Amino acid sequence: MTEPRIIIVSNRLPVTVSHAGGSIDVKPSSGGLVTAMRAVVSDYHASWIGWTGTDGEVKREWLAPAAAGINCDLFPVVLTPEQVAKFYFGFSNEIIWPLFHDLQSSCNFDPSYWNTYVDVNETYADVVSEVAQPEDIIWVHDYHLALVASSLRRRGIRSRIAFFQHIPFPSLDIFSKLPWRKQVLEALLEHDLIGFQTPRDSRNFVQCCRALTTVKAARDGEAFYMHRPGQRSNVVTEPIGIDFEEFANHAASTGVLQETHLLRAALPGMRIVLGVDRLDYTKGIPERLRAFENLLENHPELHRTVVLVQIVVPSREDVPRYRALRVEIEQLVSRINGRFTHTGWVPIHFVYRSLERAQLVAHYRAADVALVTPLKDGMNLVAKEFCAAQVDCTGVLVLSEFAGAASQMKEALLVNPNDIQGVAESLHLALMLDPRERRRRMQRLRRTVRRENVHRWSESFLAQLQPYLTNRKLQPIGQPEDPDRLVIAV
Ligand code: UDP
Repeated sequence: MTEPRIIIVSNRLPVTVSHAGGSIDVKPSSGGLVTAMRAVVSDYHASWIGWTGTDGEVKREWLAPAAAGINCDLFPVVLTPEQVAKFYFGFSNEIIWPLFHDLQSSCNFDPSYWNTYVDVNETYADVVSEVAQPEDIIWVHDYHLALVASSLRRRGIRSRIAFFQHIPFPSLDIFSKLPWRKQVLEALLEHDLIGFQTPRDSRNFVQCCRALTTVKAARDGEAFYMHRPGQRSNVVTEPIGIDFEEFANHAASTGVLQETHLLRAALPGMRIVLGVDRLDYTKGIPERLRAFENLLENHPELHRTVVLVQIVVPSREDVPRYRALRVEIEQLVSRINGRFTHTGWVPIHFVYRSLERAQLVAHYRAADVALVTPLKDGMNLVAKEFCAAQVDCTGVLVLSEFAGAASQMKEALLVNPNDIQGVAESLHLALMLDPRERRRRMQRLRRTVRRENVHRWSESFLAQLQPYLTNRKLQPIGQPEDPDRLVIAV
């Protein structure tokens, strides 16, 4: 018998293929999910299934060098331009993304998006069923692929299937707006194991299932057992982490130290406040810029002593809403700089591009304060990366209470990102914080981020599949040892 593998299934592969001027270009993909899974694939005998970002031809051999680099077989899913438009830009980005970030008024519930979503999930399931052996563990990632497991079950595939949701799961009143709410929940319940980033996300999911399906939910500590005749799944909270050692070692390297000195030398005498975000309306970038403006308004003594370095990584630039957000950010930066700039001091430094890893880590290390203020975020890895890179423990983290990371990072200064005045006050407090208190907070944060790292996350999540038997329909599975211990959920 061959060794069981982990079959990772995600919207995107860790490589992006482009066909430029007749030649093929294969580059690493970016984004939190890909970064995290790239760090863990070498812990397993793994294969990875996903789309390569192109609607042109993709041959497996083109991906071989990249696959060798990350020690993982790569299997491409091929999508047509129409599928990309309706599945990715439509259902995923115009419905699930805003709805699950509590922005229901931004949703476009176009019925044709759902039909394509169903078709594309079938396409992913086609590739999974070609690749997976019965003893393999299939690990599906995120909201793009909620229907893959149910498609595999319909084909008679009884392998263990786990699902991890990287983004938030909304409350019942928001989730109920989804026209296909029942189908999505029923499909998710086909997984043996369903993981969320925070206890709140898990509770929201269970509450939606109890209200909208016939499943019974029982609670044991932080986990939930979902059961119906012939079907069981576990719901667990498992916050994703980062590769702490990699970030910390990189931050302590000579190269990054030199970059850090260069950055500091370019801003002599300044305290650096850092923002790092993908261009997205959930990240709260305009609100953050207004909070910085409020700080400068109310604290003229800080003029010429503090700068905000805001890095924005281009994303979804073909989508009008994202283009409009970029224009809004640029106009705000320009207005605030126009209002406060003096000779020798420009208060906001706006960087609109993706940075090389060494550059990014040098920014984390050089910063006095990281201002991480998403309106809502599944986790936010930037908050954790900043702490890992703070090898001198001199920086302060100001963190939105609506980022998943806030449930673990209690020593950050927690803020409501919608409260412009409140964020400005917390930023002021962060800048004034006594060095001993900075060190104390950062040491604790680093301990948490080191302990709850990405390797522990995948091990601990997958270990929870162990109580399951491969032939899930024939035997009761995930049965808690003592059902009397259970209390009925929420
Ligand atoms: N990132 C990057 N280059 C940059 C800025 C950020 O590769 O110039 C990475 C960063 O290291 C982090 C990811 O982008 O791993 C952002 O993840 P996060 O969870 O903060 O947000 P997401 O973009 O996944 O919503």
